[in-house]
Amino acid sequence: MTHPDVPGAAAGAARALAPEGAAAVFAPLPAAPSREQCLALDAADPLAASRELFALPAGVIYLDGNSLGAMPRNAPERAREVVEQEWGRDLIGSWNKHHWFELPTRLGAKIARLVGGERGACVVTDTTSVNIFKVLGAALELQRAVDPGRRVIVSERENFPTDLYVIEGMVEWLDRGYELRLIDEDAPLEDALGVDVAVVLLTQVNYRTGRLWDLAAATAQIHASGALAIWDLCHSAGAVPVGLDAAGADFAVGCSYKYLNGGPGSPAFVWVGEQHLGSARQPLTGWWGHARPFDMEPGYEPASDIRRFQVGTQPILSLATAECGIDIALGADGAALRRKSIALSSLFIELVETRLAAHPLTLVTPRDPARRGSHVSFRHPEGFAVMKALIAQGVIGDYREPEVLRFGFAPLYNGFAEVWDAVEALRRVLDEELWRAPEFGERGAVT
Ligand SMILES: *Cc1c(COP(=O)(O)O)cnc(C)c1O
Repeated sequence: MTHPDVPGAAAGAARALAPEGAAAVFAPLPAAPSREQCLALDAADPLAASRELFALPAGVIYLDGNSLGAMPRNAPERAREVVEQEWGRDLIGSWNKHHWFELPTRLGAKIARLVGGERGACVVTDTTSVNIFKVLGAALELQRAVDPGRRVIVSERENFPTDLYVIEGMVEWLDRGYELRLIDEDAPLEDALGVDVAVVLLTQVNYRTGRLWDLAAATAQIHASGALAIWDLCHSAGAVPVGLDAAGADFAVGCSYKYLNGGPGSPAFVWVGEQHLGSARQPLTGWWGHARPFDMEPGYEPASDIRRFQVGTQPILSLATAECGIDIALGADGAALRRKSIALSSLFIELVETRLAAHPLTLVTPRDPARRGSHVSFRHPEGFAVMKALIAQGVIGDYREPEVLRFGFAPLYNGFAEVWDAVEALRRVLDEELWRAPEFGERGAVT
């Protein structure tokens, strides 16, 4: 469904960002390139124009778009419009007049395109954590109908904790003898699969190490064992190709505030494969998932389409600004994004390892670009203080336990000279031991 009268819906302006034939531009990278060579890479970057679609503060190198994406330049205007005109002037009539009610499904359709999932269906709603609960509940029910003996849920020990916490909660809540089986990173998936496994929940790009699953191959393996595959795409959407339809994936979830630049706390997405669209039912049966929400019937009947994965009233402001970020990603060529992402992360690894070889930095991320997402992590024994000192230098990455310095490369707005400058700032922090200043040892509530 498209609504040409809705400003965000028509934002196809970014579509021309990635001309065809960009393939050769990012490769090969010269060995230990100079800053001048990095500037030349920026000058030849077919995605360079997309940086202008974002507002980034001067004097800052932002390498944390994998945690909170940058702000699209048009987001404040869109927010003002929704607040002042839609809410302020048209009040409750905006649900119809400005299509607020369809916002989650309209954005979902855009995300489905981004993740190669148009044969399935997607809705932008709630948080990733809540959406994991929904799809896990749906997948377990589908499996129980076929083979109630399958009682194991497989996931990764190194997964983002909320994924594991939600599985734990579901297991306890159902109290039907389900159990969680965790696999270690780099352990063969088949070791964990078997006739007792109902569902496998994997995160395509690991939040700490950046390790990337071959989504299609893993899905095929999971299906061959008789289990269903749920994919967490939090660090994938907007950065790496996904291909849900082609893989025949069952369910997927992900957030919109990382590489999709949707804004702080912007709603997540939930995607359901075409094979389950009519049959999957989720446990949070709220009125927005009802077939006829405004009939106000006392009994629940799920909507026939993806709307059954909605629960209740959605944060319209957050959805509206999320669309600004989603539209930018949609306007870029996905293959070009991936090529630039790899070029940026490869450059960073090369520069750190050649220019900072004297320091105890250990690469945590797979060296093979085909096996990593869009961020790079290095371990350093004083990682926490080092990152704080680096941020004080204007280079914003983040820190994850244990001792991990994490640098996200957002191909939509990061550039090659920025990578060079970030490594130079890190060199200063380490060579001059700036991290030893006492203020860099103190931890805030969010790291
Ligand atoms: C960022 C992230 C989340 C975040 O979940 P929320 O419910 O949006 O806070 C979940 N899972 C993974 C793998 C993530 O990277």
